[in-house]
Amino acid sequence: MIKDKVVIITGASSGIGEATAKEIASKGAKVVLGARREEKLKQIADDIKAAGGEAVYQAIDVTKTEDNDAIVKLAKDSFGRVDAIFLNAGIMPVSAVSALKTDEWKQMVDVNINGVLNGVAAVMPTFTEQKSGHILAVSSVAGLKAYAGTAVYGGTKWFVRDFMEVLRMESAMEGTNIRTATLYPAAINTELLDTITDKQAGSGMQEVYDAFGISPDRIARVVAFALDLPEDTTVNEFTVGPANQP
Ligand code: NDP
Repeated sequence: MIKDKVVIITGASSGIGEATAKEIASKGAKVVLGARREEKLKQIADDIKAAGGEAVYQAIDVTKTEDNDAIVKLAKDSFGRVDAIFLNAGIMPVSAVSALKTDEWKQMVDVNINGVLNGVAAVMPTFTEQKSGHILAVSSVAGLKAYAGTAVYGGTKWFVRDFMEVLRMESAMEGTNIRTATLYPAAINTELLDTITDKQAGSGMQEVYDAFGISPDRIARVVAFALDLPEDTTVNEFTVGPANQP
């Protein structure tokens, strides 16, 4: 059950992470919020506490291993354990390969891939010791299907898909009681498009989101559903998006 679960959320300062923090805290989860913008995290934690929930926060950069270790420590110091981690932090500065925005390629690899790996590495020893834990990660529909214009972003999200499936299989084989869930959102209205610097890619994406985008609280409800399942049950994959997006 979701009530009293201690859940770390990366990328909790806006969009899907913020919506998920508020949704699961309203259902009794104790949330541990991480992202770089501390002021935003403080405001969200204050909102949750004002609504009767429990929240702590810490400014972290998921690309730094020590920051991931620090947020796991914060969760344990604050609430005594960690039940789940929602690996949600991500950026999407998309562009055509021919634009050669190589710095942005590296940033996407660092945040979307290394950020996930750092989070898993930070929490696994605790989950192994507890003999239980739930790892949820955000991929994308761009991790299921190739789209022109999203080469490196899509690649990072394909990585998440593969890594999480291998983690699921190995956890089952090793009997560690570590469950996994991977989410594949389609167009969700968040701050994600703000990370796009390429004008052509940005306007193309904006058209899609203007036509189809839905609220991040839809994803939050799916995360809450996954967290609420009995410990012997896992739903591994969720593709979630606007009902009218082809
Ligand atoms: P937002 O831009 O609203 O949220 C992204 C979050 O990631 C922010 O809280 C941001 O916080 C955090 N973040 C970015 N870089 C770092 C970093 N280095 N360290 C720590 N936190 C970081 O977008 P979304 O809510 O949409 O994105 C959440 C996830 O959903 C991403 O992984 C994205 O790829 C994925 N996704 C989103 C879709 C959509 O349509 N919106 C569709 C498919 C997948 P801060 O800047 O404060 O660090």
